[in-house]
Amino acid sequence: IYGITAIVGRPNVGKSTVFNRIIGERKSIVEDTPGVTRDRIYGKAEWLTKEFRVIDTGGIQIENQPFKEEIEMQVEIAIEEADSIVFVVNGRDGLTKDDEYIAKMLRKSQKPVILVVNKIDDLQFMDAIYEFYALGLGDPIALSGTHGIGIGDMLDKIVESF
Ligand code: GDP
Ligand code: MG
Repeated sequence: IYGITAIVGRPNVGKSTVFNRIIGERKSIVEDTPGVTRDRIYGKAEWLTKEFRVIDTGGIQIENQPFKEEIEMQVEIAIEEADSIVFVVNGRDGLTKDDEYIAKMLRKSQKPVILVVNKIDDLQFMDAIYEFYALGLGDPIALSGTHGIGIGDMLDKIVESF
């Protein structure tokens, strides 16, 4: 095992879709399903003969928890358990305050962060990635979890991060 990477981000940005792409099967439940069991959030992946583990922190949920506490807990678990973090944002929503909040926690952690701008299903949406440079987390990678665009670029960066 080369390392562990953890996927973080606001609800609905496509974390579980990206997780399923990385592990190459549909294990994590796409859509917000309350009470997702913990075993669904751990996956094994392989890229260019390198094996690694993936955690979908979005599946770690506590009932009736305000957003900030829940996301804070998810990011803390990611930072503690993983060697690198895949931070998923939604290119269609653009940059949000909540993205900035998460980015701040990630910058503080000093762990390598792979910033992926999801829902870029078409080249015409490519310009949406540029505003995410403002997060101070390096070059954003354009991705479409549902269409399978940018997955190889993301996997290259994940493997490099270990
Ligand atoms: P999570 O809450 O962050 O885990 O997000 P999910 O993976 O459950 O996805 C939330 C919704 O966004 C679902 O309806 C997905 O089908 C959709 N979605 C995920 N990735 C993409 C994408 O690349 N493009 C588009 N158009 N929709 C996506
Ligand atoms: Mg999810």
